[in-house]
Amino acid sequence: MAVDSEATDPLPGHIDFHNTEFAFAHLSDRELKRMYYLFRLMNSPALVNVGSSLLVAAIKLRLPLVKRLVRHTIFRQFVGGETLQECEPVIEKLRKYQCSSILEYGAEGKSREEELDTTRDIVLNTIRFAASSDSVPVVSLKLTGLVDNALLEKKQRGEVFSEQEEVYWKRFLRRFDDICQTAYEHNIALFIDAEESWMQDAIDALVLERMRRYNTRRAILYNTYQLYRVDGLQRLKDDYHVIHSEGYVFGAKLVRGAYMDKERKRAKEMGYPSPIHPTKEATDRAYDEAILFCVEHFETMASCNASHNLKSNALQAKLIEERGIVKNHDHLNFSQLYGMADYITFNLSARGYNVAKYLPYGPVEEVLPYLIRRARENTAVTGDMSRELKYLRRELKRRGLLR
Ligand SMILES: Cc1cc2nc3c(=O)[nH]c(=O)nc-3n(C[C@H](O)[C@H](O)[C@H](O)COP(=O)(O)OP(=O)(O)OC[C@H]3O[C@@H](n4cnc5c(N)ncnc54)[C@H](O)[C@@H]3O)c2cc1C
Repeated sequence: MAVDSEATDPLPGHIDFHNTEFAFAHLSDRELKRMYYLFRLMNSPALVNVGSSLLVAAIKLRLPLVKRLVRHTIFRQFVGGETLQECEPVIEKLRKYQCSSILEYGAEGKSREEELDTTRDIVLNTIRFAASSDSVPVVSLKLTGLVDNALLEKKQRGEVFSEQEEVYWKRFLRRFDDICQTAYEHNIALFIDAEESWMQDAIDALVLERMRRYNTRRAILYNTYQLYRVDGLQRLKDDYHVIHSEGYVFGAKLVRGAYMDKERKRAKEMGYPSPIHPTKEATDRAYDEAILFCVEHFETMASCNASHNLKSNALQAKLIEERGIVKNHDHLNFSQLYGMADYITFNLSARGYNVAKYLPYGPVEEVLPYLIRRARENTAVTGDMSRELKYLRRELKRRGLLR
């Protein structure tokens, strides 16, 4: 049975990503049905749109029933738990299916100094927790959780800071260094998320600078490269050459990129050329080239292919296999978001590749924006069923639970 166009297109390599038996082996019949009904609800754009606005309002009003409802539905689907302890059974279950976890504390949009310090403390705690586990090799973080976005933007524009801003910037560097040093001492890698282009240069410059300090023996810091950007591929190559030529180990996480509409809108409003490739095909070509680059240089750099695109995952697996590279070489990784794309994750893990789920955690109120983005991502785009839903239906039918 065809799942979608990707199911009928030939995929590179030999992995059968449409094998739903491997994909959902970690779910009991009950869990599978629960997931199916949830994705069915999320398939309706109208419901998700109205639901999202109502949810934000209800959580702000601290309506306890709504919080419970969220916890038992989308929160349970996409988030590890409110605390690290709550994440433990999830991490353990993933480990059983040869899948690691990448922990990320889900706070967003903070700007008060005390809040930024709190985020630092939570990240430090997450690193220590990761070090005590044998299946959490990476902690992920957003630098926008450690500094006010406005300051990053000002840095990027090259404007002079006021005395007060200089103090804030130094505090931010201190927070980031505390985190890098702790990760270095505990041998835990750090993935630094990519943001909008108007602050990304400032992030890139800082992360590269810190690679020189911490990526001496192995890749502790991984910068994120958005291949939807016209300059994304070249930035990846340039940064690799700089870091490698200076004798450090380069680390790169590859993504297509999450802020396409926002980027295009701002470019149009402000009258500069859009930094985003004009077509999906152009983004896909750049992404494939980036995968090839990482595999070709795997001995001197570490990478993570963070994508839910079947072809991109199949391509990397095929390149690894063709070149006779050990499948679980620790410089070649794959990652998907927890609660999504299980048909990629568990088919890769069953074949012995290094694969990890991105596992956010935090209080319901904090992770709400993340949850709403996930719900929106899973609505029907053209009235069709979401890709996730098609695979779930297929597995339910295979188990004889749906006709
Ligand atoms: C583990 C993980 C971590 C991530 N971390 C980050 C991060 O730090 N920063 C970040 O920005 N993103 C990040 N992302 C990526 C982002 O959240 C989306 O999931 C991702 O861009 C979706 O692309 P895909 O590779 O799954 O494939 P697809 O579903 O094949 O591609 C969709 C993507 O293609 C691009 N695209 C779509 N239409 C067009 C068009 N017309 N023209 C040009 N390009 C187009 C867009 O980037 C879009 O998101 C992460 C994703 C994962 C799985």
